[in-house]
Order: sequence, then structure tokens, then C-alpha cells
Amino acid sequence: MMPPGQPSAEALLKRIWGYHDFRGPQRAVIDHVAAGGDALVLMPTGGGKSLCFQIPALLRAGVGIVVSPLIALMQDQVAALRELGLRAAFLNSTLDAAATRAVQRAARAGELDLLYMAPERLLGESGLALLDELRIALFAIDEAHCVSQWGHDFRPEYGQLAILRERWPEVPRVALTATADVPTRHEITGKLLRDGAEFVASFDRPNIRYRVVEKRDGRAQLLQFIEAEHTGDCGVVYCLARNTVEEVAVMLAGHGITALPYHAGLPADMRTTHLRRFLDEDGIVMVATIAFGMGIDKPDVRFVAHLDMPKSVEGYFQETGRAGRDGLPAQAWLAYGLQDVVQQRRLIELSGADDTYKRLCTSKLDSMLALAEAADCRRVRLLGYFGEASTPCGNCDNCLDPPQFIDATEAAQKLLSTLYRCRQTSGTGFAATHIIDVLRGKSGEKVERHGHQRLSTFGIGADMSESDWRALLRQLVAQHLVEVDAAHFNVLQLTESSRAVLRGEQRILLKQRGPGTGRKARAGKGPAKAALALSSEDAALFERLRAWRAATAKEHSVPAYVVFPDATLQAVAVARPASLDALRGISGVGDTKRDRYGPALLACIADA
Ligand code: ADP
Ligand code: ZN
Repeated sequence: MMPPGQPSAEALLKRIWGYHDFRGPQRAVIDHVAAGGDALVLMPTGGGKSLCFQIPALLRAGVGIVVSPLIALMQDQVAALRELGLRAAFLNSTLDAAATRAVQRAARAGELDLLYMAPERLLGESGLALLDELRIALFAIDEAHCVSQWGHDFRPEYGQLAILRERWPEVPRVALTATADVPTRHEITGKLLRDGAEFVASFDRPNIRYRVVEKRDGRAQLLQFIEAEHTGDCGVVYCLARNTVEEVAVMLAGHGITALPYHAGLPADMRTTHLRRFLDEDGIVMVATIAFGMGIDKPDVRFVAHLDMPKSVEGYFQETGRAGRDGLPAQAWLAYGLQDVVQQRRLIELSGADDTYKRLCTSKLDSMLALAEAADCRRVRLLGYFGEASTPCGNCDNCLDPPQFIDATEAAQKLLSTLYRCRQTSGTGFAATHIIDVLRGKSGEKVERHGHQRLSTFGIGADMSESDWRALLRQLVAQHLVEVDAAHFNVLQLTESSRAVLRGEQRILLKQRGPGTGRKARAGKGPAKAALALSSEDAALFERLRAWRAATAKEHSVPAYVVFPDATLQAVAVARPASLDALRGISGVGDTKRDRYGPALLACIADA
């Protein structure tokens, strides 16, 4: 409910949020929805989806109803809106009866700008009855891809949200998601919206540096990565298995890193505590399965590390997108090896799904493998996957430290013919270790038992190290030139396409990085650590501002970033505004926050 004399969207952006310009399609969405249209909004995580419904909700009469599946995060979102001076509340299962009644009363009295509701609350009898009594400005459906039955975030209640269109045909709906593929878009529009107005932002996240390293000892590499580049930073480490999550958290903690485990098998209260600490404290590393993350709003996650390869590019993009939402430098780091390929293919094989679905999964996995194996710009490939053309980015490992190639066609032929011969003489297949032993001329009990030391290919690959052979094999497997039979002890098999290599019709290039692997990537443009961008005096002031923020956040029982994001504090540290008026120029300082916190900010600056 705005005072008479409707303010413009720009005026609200400036006065409430303290931002100077709209980003990407924000403005177009706001105009469309404020005028009563339905919209599908596709923006990467951190792209700024919230404003796309918050501002139209303020521009239209009535309360904006926000449907969000993430109960744990509603509280923070509402707290952030209240910090901005807006009237917001939520209804979900965490409220007791009295608190629920108070929110319902405020809604009926027209005292709310925005009301967040869990889908099951909204769809329940009392939820629908409440909505019948309200003047509704719009419905915003966050994480709208949850309607998709094919997606991994499917929520049955989301399908029932079709009722909004039937019951309130005159109220505009805006569906928002960061998951972009075309079938999902159709499903969302078909189920939730009236017309198909789509607003798509660029999916580029230029501040995220993408890096893929060859996995040798993944855990040691992870530790080294964090210690060398992210000490004291907030980050997320993704692992495939729950037990890996727990082991890695213990390992990191043993090295003085504040690491917490998170997966669906942990007791609910422990999950809640760990999530709370991650959101509220600075510098926590969350080690988690992908059960952790949808909608994580924390803006200052400085790195996302994958210890196991995700099963699709969508997954990779969504998970890495949780880094650097504040726009400051952040890293996406993935350790990837032969075992990842084998494991992911096996998971598909054992999934018990029908063949169509398995084929879909296999092709998604192949795209992910191609990205991991890529020798050219990773961002170009990533964006290309989402249908967006771009040029080499200068901020990924391959741009910063282009790999060298050696022609490995002959080595590949040696490997393939060894595979063939071993199977011929013994009538059975063998796994990678054995094949590599034969290639490198390493005899042992198994080699001798099968008489493989007498094969003509025994020892013909002694000039290459075991890890080079593994890297080559990994590339061959990724390209379906060798199959791994996951159901039979991971034995290797030739495929139809192997022949082209054996006949010399297909060349194989092996990617190699020099001994300085990664070093150049670290020294590349843009510091990996956000705070390094500041001069030492500014950095000192930034730290003081952070300390003030931590104390203030604690006092108000809100996460630190809700008070001010790092980007705003850095801007303050650099610009050192001398008056409340001068604070207006800082992005992220709206009127309410300026009045509430401005004097404290100025005091920090004056003391510096
Ligand atoms: P999403 O929901 O798309 O992941 P958010 O709506 O949470 O992203 O926005 C991400 C961050 O960007 C937030 O800190 C938000 O305040 C900020 N932001 C959004 N729009 C703008 C803008 N036009 N100018 C500056 N910052 C913005
Ligand atoms: Zn690049």
C-alpha cells in the first residue's frame, strides 16, 4: 500500500533498496506484472529475481503473496524486507497458533505489503479462506521449477498451485526460477500461468571463476585449495555420498577450518543448527550433498567446490551459482577423475528408470563430461548449453592457463589393443588398474596368472606415468571410445567407435598442463579473495565495519548480510562518505537503512 501519488518503480528502487539501476530484465518484468500480466522469469541465482515481484507488489493495491518451498529461508527473507522498512510476514509450520493468528489479522487489516506462504499452508482450507478475504496484488511463485515432474526438486504441492489461476483469474502471477531448460519452461507456463510472457536474463555470472582440476587425491587437493586461496572464507563443498560429507567435514575441521556437515540423513535439529550457523556466522564451510542449497540466499559464499562431479550441467550451474551472489569475485572448483565418470554412469544404469529416462540422463551426463574435459573457455560452453552465445571470458582456468596438447593417438591405440588382447587371451575383461599394469610392464600375481606378461603389448607404454594413462583412459571413456561395465567389476570394453581410433581414422589429443598447473590461474586478473581488492587502510576499515555488522546482526537476530552485504560495506570503506546525505550515493543504502544505520557507519569511518 503506497501513499497517494504513485511512486515510480525507479523511485522505489532508489528509496527502499538504495540501488541505482535495474538489472537485466527486471524493469520489463516489473512493468508487465504491475500492469496485470503473468510472467515467467528465468534468471541465474543471484540475478535479482526478488525485486521482480517485490516492486510490482508495492505498485499494485493489496498484498503480494509469495509462495516459496523453503520454509527455513522465509524467515530471513522477511527479516531482510523488514530491515528495508517494508511490511512483511510469513505463514508456515514454524509459527505457533497465536503467531499465525497475528499474521492473519495483519493481512486482513491490509497491513502487509508481502506475505510469504509455504505451498501446503496456502493450499490448505484455512489458507484459501484467508486469501478469499484479502485484496491480492499478485502471486509470486518462487523456485517455480518445483512443478516439474522431471526435475530433481519436484514438489507435488506445486502442481496443485494451478488452483491460483482458476480461483483468482484476475490476479497476476509471476513464476521465477534459475533452472532454464525448455521443457521445464513449458511445464511451468502450462501449469501455472495464463500467457507465456517469458523474461530471460543472461545466465553469465562473470564474477565466478570456473576451474576443473584432475582428481588425484581429491580431499588433499580440496584442503590445499581452501588453505591456499580461501582461508577464513565462507564456502560450500559438495559431495555425492553422505559418508563422504561427514568424513570431509571432519578432515577439514582437523585442519582448523570451521566445516559443518549437511545431508538429508542427519537429524533435523542438527541440519537446522548447521544451516543457521552457515547463514549467520562469517567464514563457515558447509560440506553437503545436493540436499543443501536450493534457494540459499547467502550472498557472500566465496567458493563452491565439487569433490564429485554433478550429473548434469544444470546441476553444476545451479550449485556453482550459489557462489558470489554479491557480485564480488568467487570461485567454482571441481575435482574430476575417471572414477566420477564410472560412478555416474553406474548410477544411471542402476537407477531402475525406463530406457527413455536413462537415455536422457546419459545425454545430460555427456554434456557435463564434455564441459569437464573441455580445453577451451568453460564459460562459453556453459552459456552455450543454455543457448547463449559468448566469447572467451578470461576468467576460467582454460582462458587463464590454456592447456597444451600432445597427440595421444598412438597411446590410445596401445591402450585399446591391450584391452583387446587381454580379453582375447583370457576370455574375460579387466579393469583399469590391470590394463595399465600391462601397458606399463608391471608384472604381478594377476598379470602372471593370466600370462599377460607374454602379450606383445606388455610394457609398450612404460614411457607414460600411471596418472597419464588414467587421464587418457578417462577421456576415452568420456567420449564413449571405451565402456566401463559397472555391473561387472568395472571391466573395460571396446565399443563400436573404438575401431576408428585403432584404424587411425580418429585422432586423440591429450590435454596436458605444465608443472605450474593452476598457479597462473591464481595470479590471473581479478583477485580470488574479495577483500584483496582493497588497499590496506580500506581493508582495515572494511574489517571494522564487518565487526560492527556482526554485533548489530546479533542484536537484531538477523543474518549479517541482511544488515548490509559485503559489497555495500566495501563501497563504504572506499568512498568514506562524510554525511548521511553522502551515504545516498552508496549502492545498497536505502532510506530506512540510512536512517537506522547511517550514524553508526559514519562513526566507524570517523574512528578510522
Ligand atoms: P535471486 O533470487 O535471483 O537469486 P536476489 O533477488 O536474492 O537474487 O538478488 C541477489 C542480490 O542482488 C541481492 O543482494 C539483491 O539485493 C541484489 N540486487 C538485486 N537487484 C539489484 C539491482 N538492480 N542493483 C543492485 N543490486 C541488486
Ligand atoms: Zn573462459
